[in-house]
Amino acid sequence: MVYLFENVLSINKFTIIILDIKSKMNRETFKPDSISIEGCFSKSEIGYCLKTIEDRIEKGQTEKFFRHREELEECILHDFDHTKLENTLSSLSPFKYQPYTLYRVISSRNKNFMITVFYNDITSVAHAKVSLPEINESIAEMKNNSKGFLFQTEVFQNRTSVTIKSINSAKSTVINNVIETFQKHNIFPIYMELWYIKGRDKKVKSLYIVNCTISEVIQNNELQSLHNDFERYLHRYIKPMSVFDIVGPSMVGPSSSHTAGANKIGQIARNIIKAKTKFDKAKVLSVEVKLLASFRDTGPGHYTPSAIGGGLYGLAPDHPQMIQQGDPAFLNEHGIDFDDFTASFSGYKKGTPDEELKYKNENNNNIAEIIVETESETYTITGFSIGGGNVEVRYLVNRLGTPLTGKEDFYYHNGIIVNPVEARKFDNPELIPSIVSVSKNANSKYLIPFNSFEELSQYLKKENKKLIDVVLDVEANLQGNTTEDTMLKVAEYWRVMKASVKKGIKSRELSLLKLTGKDALRINKYVKKSPLFDNIYGRATAYAVAVNEVNAKCGVIVACPTAGSCGILPGVIQAYSEIEKPERKKVLESILVSGFLGMILFNDVTTAGADYGCQAEVGVGAAMTAAALTYLEDGNAQEIVQAFILAIKNSLGLICDPVAGLVEVPCVKRNGVFASVAISASLMALSGVKSFISPDEVVLTMKEVGDKLHHDYKETAGGGLAKTRDGKAVDRAFESEVKRFFGEK
Ligand code: SF4
Repeated sequence: MVYLFENVLSINKFTIIILDIKSKMNRETFKPDSISIEGCFSKSEIGYCLKTIEDRIEKGQTEKFFRHREELEECILHDFDHTKLENTLSSLSPFKYQPYTLYRVISSRNKNFMITVFYNDITSVAHAKVSLPEINESIAEMKNNSKGFLFQTEVFQNRTSVTIKSINSAKSTVINNVIETFQKHNIFPIYMELWYIKGRDKKVKSLYIVNCTISEVIQNNELQSLHNDFERYLHRYIKPMSVFDIVGPSMVGPSSSHTAGANKIGQIARNIIKAKTKFDKAKVLSVEVKLLASFRDTGPGHYTPSAIGGGLYGLAPDHPQMIQQGDPAFLNEHGIDFDDFTASFSGYKKGTPDEELKYKNENNNNIAEIIVETESETYTITGFSIGGGNVEVRYLVNRLGTPLTGKEDFYYHNGIIVNPVEARKFDNPELIPSIVSVSKNANSKYLIPFNSFEELSQYLKKENKKLIDVVLDVEANLQGNTTEDTMLKVAEYWRVMKASVKKGIKSRELSLLKLTGKDALRINKYVKKSPLFDNIYGRATAYAVAVNEVNAKCGVIVACPTAGSCGILPGVIQAYSEIEKPERKKVLESILVSGFLGMILFNDVTTAGADYGCQAEVGVGAAMTAAALTYLEDGNAQEIVQAFILAIKNSLGLICDPVAGLVEVPCVKRNGVFASVAISASLMALSGVKSFISPDEVVLTMKEVGDKLHHDYKETAGGGLAKTRDGKAVDRAFESEVKRFFGEK
């Protein structure tokens, strides 16, 4: 901030001229010194603006708004209006190849003006006097901060200066956040400068530094509130993912995070072990799997140990033998076959709460350690299941710079894991192949042009695009899929969804401990003879329960977003399809739209009950379904987002408390009830009802609630329904199975 006041002039000529314009406009005389904007611009820095203003005054052109563009700078003067400022700043695009861009805003609310000066290339000779911010220092500070965000304040001579730094946020997000936060707090900086600095490396794609001067002393509690709001609303770039990370995978139940995700951790660990063994030439003797936190507490009920074992054995989540070959009895007898060698299996072990402490900053409760003993060492690979079947392997002994998600190839070289570019430096690194194929046509540099629901809606308006076209565009860029590929894939998922409805609705089979089964059949029978309930509500309830019953019995379903919440979307769409008979293409598109909105939400929260409670599973499932139904009913993009958010808003705080850790009670019936929530949310949105709280704020509230949710309600079966008298009775019945998994007597 030192450079900010380097060119202090008590009142410079530029200021007086602006006031002249305003005085002519408002037909009153201002005293120049009544406005405290001195020192923000020196005459030499704004030569072209000065000249333009002088010329205009000479010609009598004193209207309120004018814009002047030179090669390297652009100057815009308008009345005091935050929306105009937001639009103005958003419309100014930096040059592609310039590392620094500077936006400066001087404003006076009392005198009703704002001037924005935009420097495309601040390093050019014309602006050499402006000190450039210290980048390396800032980046070093930010890298130590897990959120990539810093907020600093200073009070000096009755003024408060606020500095906000952020890495990897999108420009529009930073601008909207800064302007809206100040506006909502009724604070109006007299001077603001916003630096955009291009990324230095793969991890720092952009750095923003915002310096603001406020002409009063802001109290500490207000500063704290500002800090919280800036931090809360600063979205990062949307993580590159696919709608099929949210709708899908097609898998053997019962849990996407604890079964499909656990399996992927096993598969990635298998590939690391194979690569490391080949490189180190050290024979693997044995492999042990240690489960921590939610994986330990509810894993056996979700077949988590078997799923990891199946993955270590090289079987994918939808392989029919995956659970059987990961069973401790099978692995104890056969060991783990790694193609070139076979290691003995040392069993599934329960980690202690103390052992979890080292992962407390990971913000994740689904943790598995794969402990490998070789002739020369014992090393640990640690994976985290982050929801909807998505995983991150974050440790090979030490924390990895980039987690392995299974979607990209990596290489192992002498104790470290590197990406393909870094691997070129080494002779003979060993490939750790991806386990999920991503098309070679994927654009790895592509950044989604919006990072929140608000930005999505602005983008659709600005580009005049349909939501479904944007969904297909994003999918094409991120995954390299053609529209035909995407439609074929979603068609296959829809086939599996319909099959699970059909199977569930007829089934008389009960689950392992007889907690669920036959309820879908009962509801369907009743619906058929009831004129009151034979409608979308009644049918959707029966079908949603049907699909979730299939899941509880380890049948094949499509996670949407998770296996625990897999019934709502197919249940409602199937009921709608029977009644309204929509075109098949429209049905497939509605599923894509539902996954796409889930993807935007997934940027802020994980869809895992173990991290954010059932609001993130059944709540999100209902929201995605509400969006799909609104799309089927020809709702516009705004109505689709509103339907989504109304369902989220009305499932806030929903806890995850599965009895005995099995995805049965309350999960199955909850799918049936939340099918109705989805339909009601869609009905409201289509009628023009809007959430009073903005969509992005609802999502952030969901995150806040999830963060504060007690550990007992995050898929640990440590409280809620799981610890009722009836729930505990099931624990006892399940005890022998749990002991069998962990090899206890
Ligand atoms: S209670 Fe909800 S979040 Fe928890 S396992 Fe069941 S469906 Fe999933």
